[in-house]
Parts: sequence; C-alpha cells; structure tokens
Amino acid sequence: MTHDPNCIFCKIVAGQIPSKKVFEDEDLIVFHDIHPWAPVHILIVPKAHIVSHAELTEEHQALAGKMMVLAPRLMKELGVTGGFRTVINTGRDGGQEVMHLHMHVMGGPRPWSKG
Ligand code: 5GP
Ligand code: ZN
Repeated sequence: MTHDPNCIFCKIVAGQIPSKKVFEDEDLIVFHDIHPWAPVHILIVPKAHIVSHAELTEEHQALAGKMMVLAPRLMKELGVTGGFRTVINTGRDGGQEVMHLHMHVMGGPRPWSKG
C-alpha cells in the first residue's frame, strides 16, 4: 500500500499521530476532524496514500463506493438524524489543505461554524 512518510494522514493511518477514530478496516480509516465545522465532523480516509480525488481512476471504483456508502452508516451510528453534508476538496483551487484524499462528512444541529 502506498505510504508517504511526510503525510499527516499517512501518519494517522500508521498510528504515529493520535486521532479520535470512529471506524477502521483494511481499506479505510475514519476519525473526527481536529477542527470541526459542525457538531459531528468526520473524515473518511483511504489507508493508501492517494493524493486527491483527481487521482481516482477505474481501479478505485470499489474504494470510492465504499467511502460513499460508509458515510450514512457512520452518521447514523454517531446519532446524526437531521441530514449531513459531504465535501471533498480537490487540489489548490478546490481548497484542499491535506494532500491525501479524504471525504468530510458533517452533521448535527445547526448553526454550524462554516455554512
Ligand atoms: P482539506 O482542506 O484538506 O479538505 O481538509 C483537511 C482537514 O483535515 C481540515 O478540516 C483539518 O482540520 C483536518 N486536519 C488536519 N490535520 C489534522 C490532524 O492532525 N488530525 C485530524 N483529526 N484532523 C486534521
Ligand atoms: Zn498520505
């Protein structure tokens, strides 16, 4: 599995940086965002170092589908009943700050700090 020793999310995958983990399997890790924009704000992260959504190809279809399907399941498990927002920032102009693919999933009662 691809791993970038300088990448903060690869370090979280490797357990070198602590995180508040909500889910983990062989392909994905999910943890709470350190600066939440909403009462519940998790990041669904592939364990492999994929830089961004722009790098996804047909070989990633199952992985991408798994990320998408996991979001509602985890929101339900975390007690989010009023809906949620999913965001994937891609590249510089997409506002991506951590260059390791991740899906933000945010929910909980409004108002939220962003939006
Ligand atoms: P981006 O702008 O790349 O889509 O979002 C990166 C997100 O990762 C931000 O919301 C930021 O708060 C979160 N983040 C950055 N570093 C860490 C960290 O070390 N731990 C956790 N849990 N979240 C982080
Ligand atoms: Zn990485």
